[in-house]
Amino acid sequence: MPQEKFDVVIVGLGPVGATLAHLLGMAGVKTLVLDREGAQYHLPRAVHFDDEVMRVFQWVGIADELLPKLRVNAGMKFVGDDGQLLLDWPRPQEESTLGWNASWRMHQPDLEALLRTGLEARESVTVRTRCEAFNVDDRGDHVELRYEDMTKGEIHHIKASYVVGCDGARSLIRRYIESGMEDYGFHERWLVIDVLLKADKPELGDHTVQYCNPTQPMTYARGPKNRRRWEIKVAPDADSQKITTEAATWKLLEKWLRPDEAEIERTAVYVFHSLIAENWRKGRLLIAGDAAHQTPPFMGQGMCAGIRDAANLGWKLAQVIQGQASDGLLDSYQSERHPNAREFIETAVRLGGLINAADSERALRAAMTKPDGSAAMKSIYPALGAGLGPGAHAGQLFGQPRLQDGTRMDDVIGHRFVLVADADLVQDLRLRRDLAVVTTQDAPDAKAHLDSLGVLAVLLRPDRYILGTANTEQELTALIDQSDLTIR
Ligand SMILES: Cc1cc2nc3c(=O)[nH]c(=O)nc-3n(C[C@H](O)[C@H](O)[C@H](O)COP(=O)(O)OP(=O)(O)OC[C@H]3O[C@@H](n4cnc5c(N)ncnc54)[C@H](O)[C@@H]3O)c2cc1C
Repeated sequence: MPQEKFDVVIVGLGPVGATLAHLLGMAGVKTLVLDREGAQYHLPRAVHFDDEVMRVFQWVGIADELLPKLRVNAGMKFVGDDGQLLLDWPRPQEESTLGWNASWRMHQPDLEALLRTGLEARESVTVRTRCEAFNVDDRGDHVELRYEDMTKGEIHHIKASYVVGCDGARSLIRRYIESGMEDYGFHERWLVIDVLLKADKPELGDHTVQYCNPTQPMTYARGPKNRRRWEIKVAPDADSQKITTEAATWKLLEKWLRPDEAEIERTAVYVFHSLIAENWRKGRLLIAGDAAHQTPPFMGQGMCAGIRDAANLGWKLAQVIQGQASDGLLDSYQSERHPNAREFIETAVRLGGLINAADSERALRAAMTKPDGSAAMKSIYPALGAGLGPGAHAGQLFGQPRLQDGTRMDDVIGHRFVLVADADLVQDLRLRRDLAVVTTQDAPDAKAHLDSLGVLAVLLRPDRYILGTANTEQELTALIDQSDLTIR
């Protein structure tokens, strides 16, 4: 049998690998996804994601089906030992500038099931489960990869132009890249308890609650429908087996729930880390998601960072494979994504420190005080690190205007370059025919998005980060010419 050849092999069909496979499939890139497990990981892990990530789910076509399985997050409250409110982090209940609510509650297996089902319709994507990658060899002009099909006990040798390890925290591909890890100092064991309520229990509340108790910090989170979660810090000397027994779990929950009120879905002890791989690429090997970075859970941003990796890497790989950009474009993947992921991890580590602090109230107030003396916390949207595009706003995420008929811009434009511009500025310009254009006439609220940056035009990359901005016809023409060069 001739050796199979793929443009991209993705190792790992978790949420990050599946999202990347969608983005490559949408571009028609011949992609193979391997996962050692026969079925998706069925137990809950992530419970939260944000508006930027929802926008990526919009591109890959699962947002509408996902919506009924989600809950808009009310926000987070930090409370002290005796229940006093230390800090409020309300989350807006209306759409953000990205076109979706800022913060969502979910059940990770629901999301993964939709991502996997959706892949069946992507013609250029092949998924093989119970197939474990165990060897890769970058030969310079291609990669040789070996995997075992565990159903048949067969070893397969295949070729790929690129291999992306979306293979989780213990990534095989990261080992082949031989990357060290930057350590941000947080390594703690936390007990995670997921329950299914048997009947409504409104007194538990809709907010996430951070219990800032220095002897036993814990978090309560409301999930969609009857799902509720408690995450509880485990003392260094505690025995993981003893604290996960049913009796021990009910003892921990007795303040909130009686055993007849809920079913325990699972209890598990996780060690949360704060790590970033030093190298995300070596030659034709790349890593994304937990393979590249791991964060403490306090911001609910681990998977979100991985989905951002996929959104950044997907269009770049497609451009390189289809000959529209040189392989050098892939170097901007780490330079852009690493600082962005680091900012979320550092913030989560700081937040963890505040929740754990001996005097949380003082620590929180010192860290979060606004000029008027009140304490507040805001969501962060860090820009990308140095990479593509000239100018002041390059690397910032741009909002999602709605067109005249109310449709979200990305539903019409898809995952490609787009110019959003003042209608008068572009009316006499002859623009590249392959460049999508949305003017302030097509989308009335585009003006507000442009005004917030003080510009008349933005050139957006397929992942909707800004490549550059312009205020005059000359600047715009130069930007379009120059950006064409930038990505080649
Ligand atoms: C308790 C908990 C709470 C969390 N809460 C949140 C949250 O609220 N918000 C958030 O954004 N994130 C959260 N996270 C993090 C989130 O779950 C992870 O970041 C996310 O699952 C990582 O996705 P991934 O696709 O990178 O890796 P994974 O989901 O780990 O998938 C990796 C896949 O690779 C496969 N694989 C590995 N090696 C091989 C191989 N050699 N060959 C073939 N297949 C292989 C595995 O079988 C697996 O399917 C939480 C995590 C935990 C544990």
